[in-house]
Amino acid sequence: MEEGGGVIPYGRQCVDEDDIAAVIEVLRSDWLTQGPSTDRFEEKVAAYCGVGHACATANATAALHLACLGLGLGPGDTLWTSPNTFVASANCALYCGAKVDFVDIDPQTYNMSVALLRDKLVDAKQRGTLPKVVVAVHFAGQACEMAEIASLATEYGFYVIEDASHAIGGRYRGEAVGCCRYSDMTIFSFHPVKIITTGEGGMVLTNNPALHDKVLMLRSHGITRDEVKMTSPSHGPWYYQQVDLGYNYRLTDIQAALGMSQMRRLDDFITRRRTLANRYDNLLADLPVVTPWRHSDCLSAWHLYVIRLAKETRRQVFELLRASGIGVNVHYIPVHTQPYYQALGFVVGDFPEAERYYEEALTLPLFPGLTDVEQERVISVLREALR
Ligand SMILES: *Cc1c(COP(=O)(O)O)cnc(C)c1O
Repeated sequence: MEEGGGVIPYGRQCVDEDDIAAVIEVLRSDWLTQGPSTDRFEEKVAAYCGVGHACATANATAALHLACLGLGLGPGDTLWTSPNTFVASANCALYCGAKVDFVDIDPQTYNMSVALLRDKLVDAKQRGTLPKVVVAVHFAGQACEMAEIASLATEYGFYVIEDASHAIGGRYRGEAVGCCRYSDMTIFSFHPVKIITTGEGGMVLTNNPALHDKVLMLRSHGITRDEVKMTSPSHGPWYYQQVDLGYNYRLTDIQAALGMSQMRRLDDFITRRRTLANRYDNLLADLPVVTPWRHSDCLSAWHLYVIRLAKETRRQVFELLRASGIGVNVHYIPVHTQPYYQALGFVVGDFPEAERYYEEALTLPLFPGLTDVEQERVISVLREALR
């Protein structure tokens, strides 16, 4: 801790008295696990995004797993994603017994490069190794080039999942991220560092009713109480059938009440994040750092504000900021360089753009409750550190 304030984290939830009251109301009610509050939260998010169906889950990792299962990903299949992401975007394939591969990033957006995706698809088609699923990760809250990815999906016959863990509240070509115009499904995360929170939580969105039904069933053990979905006549009103192997990936109503309450302020959160990002751009203008590039098709949800600096100084700058109570971070260690993935056969050097980016990246604090004064402190310490 430093004089003049406590530690400033890189991200933090924003919970107010209305959020707390909403949670307490559920605690006094009859339903604690998945129930009416979860239904309302799903409807609220679906309406906000302009999508047909939403299924709330225990976390986004579960949402990714369910999305992959919904699409029938399994042994013999391959899923491609970006190496510049949290491990969960890739692990979901391994849970299903499928293989993972990566497409290197675009040096400007830090999202999966569409040009490299196209090259890799041409090559994979010749070898007969086309992916079944591509997970497009909207890094830092800025959407991938989804129209281009969707047209490649049509051409090469793969499914698209948007990992929008960073991007609820963001927009792409005039529509909300989550509308699934360019994808089969979109998933959100409601972890406390993300845009809105339920403590832990996630959601799977889709416009495909059959996919939605499958995800709903798999969220709760593969069990149905709907006689139409049973393989034989019901034994009576108590009866249910397990018709698939599912999980307990449910969200609680306690969490859903928090999420529902947070949704009221989603647009305010995004506005504040955008204001802070614009301020960072200005405050950093005369420093030897690369600020985030903005794609003209996108309005970012600004989950992260990442700068790039010379790799020779990144570690020292990181340590100086941390020592001064500025909770900087690094997003992301390329997934293919993790020991678990190295054991699967990936080697350092496989995705050089993501690796180069990783050596230079530094995530500055960004969350709605960050004050202008705190932000100025971040910049003045950074300015010192860069001397
Ligand atoms: C946070 C995150 C996840 C996992 O979210 P959880 O809700 O913690 O399971 C997945 N993908 C990305 C890109 C994330 O940032």
